[in-house]
Amino acid sequence: MNPPAPKNPRKVIGSSAGQRGSHRPPGLAAPVAELAGVGPRIAEKLARLSIETVGDLLWHLPSRYEDRGTEQPLSSQAVGESALFKVRITEVRPLFRGKARLVCQAVGEGPTGPMPITLWFFGRFGPTPQAGRECLLFGELQQGPHGLELAQPELVTPSQIGQIRPVYPATEGVAQPKLRQLVAAALEIAVRELTDPLPSAIRERHDWPVLMKALQRIHLPKRRDGVPARHEPAFQRLIVEELATHILALRQRRAVTRQVAAPAIPPQDHLFDQLIDHLGFTPTGAQRRVIGEIKADLAQALPMLRLVQGDVGSGKTLVAAAAALDVIDAGYQVALMAPTALLAEQHARNFEQWFEPLGLAVLLLSGQQTAAERRAGLARLADGRAQIVVGTHALFQESVAFHQLGLVIVDEQHRFGVHQRLALTDKGASPEGGARRPHQLIMTATPIPRTLAMTQFADLDVSVIDELPPGRTPVTTVVVRADRRGEVIERIARVCAEGRQAYWVCPLIEEGQIEAQAAETTFAMLGEELPHLSIGMVHGRMNAAEKQREMARFKAGDYHLLVATTVIEVGVDVPNASLMIIENAERMGLAQLHQLRGRVGRGATASHCVLLFDEPLSDRARARLGLMRETEDGFRLAEADLEQRGPGEVLGTRQAGIAKLKIADLQEDQGHLDDAGRLADELLERFPDAVGPLIARWVGAAGQYGQV
Ligand code: ADP
Ligand code: MG
Repeated sequence: MNPPAPKNPRKVIGSSAGQRGSHRPPGLAAPVAELAGVGPRIAEKLARLSIETVGDLLWHLPSRYEDRGTEQPLSSQAVGESALFKVRITEVRPLFRGKARLVCQAVGEGPTGPMPITLWFFGRFGPTPQAGRECLLFGELQQGPHGLELAQPELVTPSQIGQIRPVYPATEGVAQPKLRQLVAAALEIAVRELTDPLPSAIRERHDWPVLMKALQRIHLPKRRDGVPARHEPAFQRLIVEELATHILALRQRRAVTRQVAAPAIPPQDHLFDQLIDHLGFTPTGAQRRVIGEIKADLAQALPMLRLVQGDVGSGKTLVAAAAALDVIDAGYQVALMAPTALLAEQHARNFEQWFEPLGLAVLLLSGQQTAAERRAGLARLADGRAQIVVGTHALFQESVAFHQLGLVIVDEQHRFGVHQRLALTDKGASPEGGARRPHQLIMTATPIPRTLAMTQFADLDVSVIDELPPGRTPVTTVVVRADRRGEVIERIARVCAEGRQAYWVCPLIEEGQIEAQAAETTFAMLGEELPHLSIGMVHGRMNAAEKQREMARFKAGDYHLLVATTVIEVGVDVPNASLMIIENAERMGLAQLHQLRGRVGRGATASHCVLLFDEPLSDRARARLGLMRETEDGFRLAEADLEQRGPGEVLGTRQAGIAKLKIADLQEDQGHLDDAGRLADELLERFPDAVGPLIARWVGAAGQYGQV
């Protein structure tokens, strides 16, 4: 498109440019305050919408459109729709109380004849409505107590009929007209300045519009082209471009990580063979395959970045142990990071049992230790006497010095945000070992749906353990209303009389204090109902040592029944437990229910999971419980979870870590991921110069992925 002739110089007010007396319009990179009509107060409010520069306005995309084209009849069918309505005002009454300033009665055309409607006007509004006048109003039709209503409708002049108006995500103090005006000003500047980072060869092949055209279509739609829709080329182009850019940013991030050498670890088997001999295990085919993939990575002098995905109980720990043994055999240390202190302790105990017979030293670093214990532990780590250290993320936040760290294992990655994982890549580098970076192995039980695998985890290689060790039995799940608790308690008595054990999981409560109380109340209730059983309890207010003691007693069979809060969600392994009761299951997400249920079905006996719920049950909760009853397939559950809750919550990284997308939507635009992957490949191979500008535009210069 040809740039239009320069417009009249705009007045620049309230800015340094104004004080300099310059009349040139600001560029796209200029602070938004340099635009006419943006003072410091508005600039501050715009910053809340992440609009800092003039160019940022271009990427503040409409969330929807208002169509002022078609006149709608007044009908309860149209309630909730924003549309154009033609009415004749019959009565106008000012109000002196309440929020509204003016109320009007009016009549419009309904599907079967005249329909009355009430109009409310608040605060400032346009020309005062007059009785007897016919007018066109735009607004959202609502159902009031006495019939149809429009609140603060906009009076539409004949010249405005047919407009399609973008509606932007707004913030208090910057209204839609202001945003529209500012975006339009930015578009005018863009016509002269904006370059398209996508090579024309690619654009033409997909029939995509040039960037400026796409943005004009999205921000300033023309009547004749209809209301813009996501399946149009203008949107498609930006969606695919954005997804491809996130993939590129992560790949670049991976390249940066892999610029630093890692120790090359020659594969060996003798320690692992000794371990499985003494465990009496035969690794599953899937475990063998994944171990092979890890060994191939470790043998290279490049940092491994591998994610091992395996459902609850698939035996990820053994895979991690195999990697650890190779690394230790080559003379390096291994750090294992667990999401909770309880889990760190369990891993440490487990590894002690596995590794000490092989002559290796396992160290636990935890907040519960005395200063002296901790100091002694740190010393053993620093001089290499301890070969493997287990702890929480504190391992990397504090100044823990390694002798020679060769491998970092992160368990249950879904508990850590992308940021934490990336921070680890940097901080995990051995402070003593010079420029070497440790290998990284990440383990997760949350199957990562493809959408996330390609965007959030594109910097990782993925291995899947898609087979459970033999001897597992499927878990039968039943959904039971809480008032049938009595039957459930009888079932516990039966199961325990047969020598099996049971878990009772208390409701999910935010506050630690109250959660502990809830556990104690349940504990007392069950003690009364089941006087013959010995009952243990773990909850979040106990310290790690207390929790560990209770867990150990349950595992040893001292307790028939364990009352627990969701602290037992991950890592607890008691094969003799064959019954799990989950209270208020309707409040929990699918991923969490699946994790909890994974605690049973670990032995040879048929296991059951009882999901207790309280009424009323929302449709979503009902669907969740139904799906839990129907399937044990972690992948299906994860997909459903993603659909219900969105990627941020699924990964537990709502506040940090998950990339913010400007236009693409990981659920809605799944179908574009393959295109995006191909586009990323093609850009890297054929148009590497385009990559930097794309990342700067979509991901930001500072980068949501650390330094890219
Ligand atoms: P997750 O993948 O959930 O972390 P774990 O590593 O805790 O699973 O393994 C679950 C249980 O299965 C543990 O008791 C573990 O010792 C056992 N296990 C792992 N691999 C095998 C195998 N190949 N054969 C038999 N049992 C195994
Ligand atoms: Mg595990």
